Amino acid sequence: MPLTRKQESDICLSCGECCKRYSITLLPEEATIIAKKLKLSKKKFLENYCELFVKVYPKTTPGILTFPTTFFPKKIGELLSRELTSVPGGFFVLPQIALKRKEGVCRYLNKDNTCQIYNERPFPCGLFPFMVVPGYEEQYPFCELFKKSNKTLPNKSKQYSKKIKIYFKQMDEKGFTKVWKSTPKKGKFFLNELLLGEITIKQLEKMMSVKATQKK
Ligand code: SF4
Ligand code: SF4
Repeated sequence: MPLTRKQESDICLSCGECCKRYSITLLPEEATIIAKKLKLSKKKFLENYCELFVKVYPKTTPGILTFPTTFFPKKIGELLSRELTSVPGGFFVLPQIALKRKEGVCRYLNKDNTCQIYNERPFPCGLFPFMVVPGYEEQYPFCELFKKSNKTLPNKSKQYSKKIKIYFKQMDEKGFTKVWKSTPKKGKFFLNELLLGEITIKQLEKMMSVKATQKK
């Protein structure tokens, strides 16, 4: 059985380590809600307080939602090949937007480990640590809540999974910039969880135009 909210907060040490170590990705509607809370336009919020968060995975990666390979064309190969000696085929890419961190931690984490935007916080914050992400157990050995995560996957994880699938479908149909309308100008680019460097919105747009060409 999933833990109740009360059980979760009784077990959680409120150490704030998840907010310090974990980058938070957003869905477009969450950006709207947080921008409103911060009294910023969505455009200003996305451009100044968020960053691109683009991850590429081998298609065989377990526990990760898939995304069409057509969205992983030459440009990604070029970017990857700068860092790696060979680029195995069969990748997919997750292009997302994340909260830009400040001095290595979430910019909305208060000194007492409370959250400045708690009621409006993005879905992954509420899900932590009940997510199936390989390798996280090693990163959070002290997190008692994490120890329970192998035993239970509550409904909210499933809800989020559904939302994110819709998000990726929309991106496949309309394109990243059309779904977001405004975006950060640049951000981070990963292979699995390994940070490879910076990616700009122009590079991401080029990937999309290659995809559009492939579809013709
Ligand atoms: S969920 Fe885990 S890492 Fe996050 S504050 Fe609670 S105990 Fe700490
Ligand atoms: S938005 Fe709030 S809950 Fe989420 S990582 Fe930042 S401080 Fe933590």
